[in-house]
Amino acid sequence: MASAQGVNGHAQQTVQASTDASTERVQVVNEDKTFTSELTGQIERWGLRDSGFNYNIVAVFGSQSTGKSTLLNRLFGTTFDVMDETRRQQTTKGIWMCRGKDMSAMVMDVEGTDGRERGEDQDFERKSALFSLASSEVLIVNMWEHQVGLYQGANMSLLKTVFEVNLGLFGKKTLDGSRTLLLFVIRDHVGATPLANLQATLIADLNRIWDTLSKPDELKDRQLSDYFDLAFTTLPHKILVPDKFEADVKTLRKRFTDKSDPGYVFKPQYHKRIPADGVAMYMSNIWEQVQTNKDLDLPTQQELLAQFRCDEISAGALAEFNEQAKSQKRPIESGRVVEGLGALMKNWRAQALTRYDRDASRYHKGVYTRKRGDLISVIDSTLSPLFLGQLKNAHKSCLVTFKKELLDGLKGDDYSFGDVVTKATKNCEETFTSVAKEALIEDTDWNWEDELEVIKEETRGIADQCRKDETKKMVNQIERNVKKLISEPVEIQLSKPSTVMWDGVLKTFKEVLAKAEATYLAKAKSFNCTEEENTAALAALRKRSWIVLRGKIEEQTADQVLLGKLRGHFEEQFRYDEQGVPRVWKPEDDIDGAFVKAKEQTLELVPLYSRIKPSDPSLEFILDDESSDDLANEEFEFASSLVVLSETKSLDLINKFRKDADAYFVEAKRSTVSSIAQ
Ligand code: GDP
Ligand code: MG
Repeated sequence: MASAQGVNGHAQQTVQASTDASTERVQVVNEDKTFTSELTGQIERWGLRDSGFNYNIVAVFGSQSTGKSTLLNRLFGTTFDVMDETRRQQTTKGIWMCRGKDMSAMVMDVEGTDGRERGEDQDFERKSALFSLASSEVLIVNMWEHQVGLYQGANMSLLKTVFEVNLGLFGKKTLDGSRTLLLFVIRDHVGATPLANLQATLIADLNRIWDTLSKPDELKDRQLSDYFDLAFTTLPHKILVPDKFEADVKTLRKRFTDKSDPGYVFKPQYHKRIPADGVAMYMSNIWEQVQTNKDLDLPTQQELLAQFRCDEISAGALAEFNEQAKSQKRPIESGRVVEGLGALMKNWRAQALTRYDRDASRYHKGVYTRKRGDLISVIDSTLSPLFLGQLKNAHKSCLVTFKKELLDGLKGDDYSFGDVVTKATKNCEETFTSVAKEALIEDTDWNWEDELEVIKEETRGIADQCRKDETKKMVNQIERNVKKLISEPVEIQLSKPSTVMWDGVLKTFKEVLAKAEATYLAKAKSFNCTEEENTAALAALRKRSWIVLRGKIEEQTADQVLLGKLRGHFEEQFRYDEQGVPRVWKPEDDIDGAFVKAKEQTLELVPLYSRIKPSDPSLEFILDDESSDDLANEEFEFASSLVVLSETKSLDLINKFRKDADAYFVEAKRSTVSSIAQ
């Protein structure tokens, strides 16, 4: 036998050459009445930790050296110390525990309940009785046959203690597991007195003890049978009839292992309802209370145990959960949209709760439920940042995709802006919604709809900006086209000065503008532009087209160009006859008259060019001066734009032209002189 001294001087012994932890034993309470710190670990090594309520506890009581340990070892295959016959050596005092062989039972051997006269031992007896009753389903009361009927004997005093203590524990409350089975094992039964007689004697004695108990008033009518079930059995002399002893022990063992045995002892109503993983702590608390002579209130103890254990179980579940949740913290923080995050989170959450429920649901319902709520809120507060991070990341990536889709969709000429925007918007919202819904955990107050609203606003803003850019692009394109279309006709019309010259120019302009507006409206349809935007864009288009026209007119009425036109007109009048044949001046010709006529006719053209004025008043349309559009940000005033040549400019032009005309006149005169001289 190897012996190791544990903390608090507890001996924890293992059977040598056996690696089977099921035969290990532990000294639960030592000679100094301190409780072991090894019990939790021991129960785990016995493999009972996770057995829930599927385990049993049995304890033995009786005078010293009545073969208790021997009986337990035979009955349960345990390894309790047995007094060495040759040395008559006392076994170690205290409470020992073993696991029953091939059964889910914890067996307690209570040593040292002897020497009635010593107060010290009575104290221990009382404490160990409290301890055993608070946890055991079955209390084996071990006695010699010859002790039966010795009413004043040590056994009876022991039983009185047990009854008193039990009344304190379970007296007032009707508690689950408040019944206990007392199994009397009468040893060295000779056989002369049948069990029935022994049993009757014992029952009579037990009732006498019960009656002598001082009970509180409210409990004075309670019977022994209200708290205890009684069972009796005998065993023959172990040394004198060893075979019969072994056979009877075997039969007795069946009452602990075989549920179908009519004498089966571990009935559900005796179970103290302490989950196996809480037994060590429960016993430790009970002993603590007992040791400090505090009132042992079992419901309170069970609630305290539940609080402690539920916290522990919760912490265990949470530790595993935190480890899992940590794995996705970095990816989320780095901006990734974690695929299947919701499934992961739900899985971790469910695992943690399953783990908690499995172990904690056996404890006090109220405590279990309350702590479960706490656990859920801790879990959810850990998951919430992941959820929000996922939303944020999805938001970002959806917008990036949205912008890219717009860009790609607006490439080339053959696209409908409205369709491109609608498709990209739908895609963006759907992608975000599906990511958000996947990540959402039910039963939380999490919200993703607000984020979607922000996204909607942003995509709207981007689409609006995009539409403005596109509209601008389109208007520019139309403007270029206007320029191209009006250039030649205007040039031609301005080269043929007449009273309807401006009518022609404006008619051309009107036609081109109408075409431009139609082009705009056709394209704008797919832009989902508002009525307001269309009105503004059309006004801008008109203004800009007008400016284009004005530019063309400017170009065609620039000093030298216009002077050329006047000169051309004059020459046509002065140097050519009505048939268009160049004139050869003869002395009899009225050069002066022709000159004056041609000059005056030409000078009449200056006011014609100086102002855009059609003969048909219907062509005098006015551009909307009010609309201020960013497309035409130049200062622009329509009325003044009708003036082509200012007064000064006109005079300047007239003067220049006069000089040119005079030169022609002089040249014409000279040509006659030279012809005369010939
Ligand atoms: P405990 O102090 O009650 O645990 O008693 P032990 O199991 O240590 O046994 C005390 C002594 O009684 C030992 O010497 C055993 O050999 C002896 N003993 C055990 N069982 C029996 C029995 O059934 N009949 C008799 N007469 N002696 C027994
Ligand atoms: Mg013993």
